Amino acid sequence: MEFKTIIEPFKIKSVEPLAITTPEQRKEYLEREHWNLFGLQSQEVTIDLLTDSGTGAMSAEQWAAIMRGDEAYAGSHSWQRFNKVLTELTGYKHIIPTHQGRASEKILATITVKEGDIIPSNSHFDTTRANFEAALATPVDLLCKEGLDLLTPAPFKGNIDLEKLEALLNSDDIDKIPFVLMTITNNTGGGQPVSMENLKAVKALCEKYNKMFLLDACRFSENAWFVSQREDSYKDIEIREIAKEAFRLADGCTISLKKDGFGNIGGVLAFNDDALAEAAKNVLILTEGFPTYGGLTGRDLDALAQGLIEITDRNYLEYRARSISYLAEKALEYGIPIVQPAGGHALYIDAKTFLPHIPPHQYPGHSLACEIYLIGGVRAVELGTLAFGVAGEDGKDDTPATHELVRLAAPRRSYTQSHFDYVAEVLEKLVEKKDTLKGYEITYQPKLLRHFTAKLKPKT
Ligand SMILES: *Cc1c(COP(=O)(O)O)cnc(C)c1O
Repeated sequence: MEFKTIIEPFKIKSVEPLAITTPEQRKEYLEREHWNLFGLQSQEVTIDLLTDSGTGAMSAEQWAAIMRGDEAYAGSHSWQRFNKVLTELTGYKHIIPTHQGRASEKILATITVKEGDIIPSNSHFDTTRANFEAALATPVDLLCKEGLDLLTPAPFKGNIDLEKLEALLNSDDIDKIPFVLMTITNNTGGGQPVSMENLKAVKALCEKYNKMFLLDACRFSENAWFVSQREDSYKDIEIREIAKEAFRLADGCTISLKKDGFGNIGGVLAFNDDALAEAAKNVLILTEGFPTYGGLTGRDLDALAQGLIEITDRNYLEYRARSISYLAEKALEYGIPIVQPAGGHALYIDAKTFLPHIPPHQYPGHSLACEIYLIGGVRAVELGTLAFGVAGEDGKDDTPATHELVRLAAPRRSYTQSHFDYVAEVLEKLVEKKDTLKGYEITYQPKLLRHFTAKLKPKT
């Protein structure tokens, strides 16, 4: 029988109180932090949509796994369970645990990337980009043209532009390319999925030009869910089988298990190639730990092994995708421009279109994120000129980022339908206030990653 209501496919065993604050308090907290949302204490935030990374709720089985954790330094039971689940899921010969995604990226960059290299991708995530740049290589984003158009829906806006990829592989630069990296789903581009057809075409190109093919598979399960919903030939295939097939198209992967690992910490680096795996393990021992724990406790490995089983559950994925598409429907109903269709882990508001009266160098996304907090204690994050723009020298305006987005990311299994209804109500009130919102100016900023610690004040 079909029901309209898609329920949370879990009940609650352990609860945490939410902070309920007044508008006056919220203004006081933000003023105290010089209008930087990263400065807020978590007990000052009612619904925290800052990130979906490491913020999910573990299941009773995962907590039970925590108790089973075996803390043997080498060859622990927990490692064996982790290794078995990931070997079955990915099919890769060598599974290397790390403490989080960027540690996998750092090791990957250390062993495969040299000065002057070029690394093509659909879109590099910020830490991935930063790790390749730190190795003096050039990461290039070759997102398909549908992906570049924020407001027009298309099923697979995370796909890579295959013509551009082949042009690069077929150029004099071919010897500078150590591998092709596909990010599933594309976090930077709005959590948009990549089709299996696109992944297969990338594999074919990599075979033709003899290049390694790697996945940044942080959201492999959300990607598989969208494939099952949008790619005809995958309609009747189990989500886990789709995910398995995607991994098997590539030669290895990096994953932050703080996303689709259902973990609060953890990462993995995996390869088929023996020599690469050996090189990776040598770096791992220097920086993370012995190859059977790699910066994680036995109990973390055990909880992740269980999380990696639960994450491909169809009912969970349906609830998750529906929570976000529900928010997206409400936003559109209220006339808020958003990245369409809704992504797998977050709602992205296009602040440039929504607040045309605030120029990029006065941070329209930041203004919006502050107002969302002031209205209802909901914390979102600016992904625009404050985060990615280049500070202007000597009082000149900043060089703006390509987009001015505000991301409301949903932690996994942490919030219920009434929480999303509340967030929708905050968005509705936001629309009433939009013309009164003001730009911001920076009063202090560090040289790197300024959005985390910058001090700001509203324009008068
Ligand atoms: C989060 C993320 C990373 C980095 O992982 P951390 O665990 O935060 O270090 C890399 N790539 C993508 C696509 C991500 O979303």
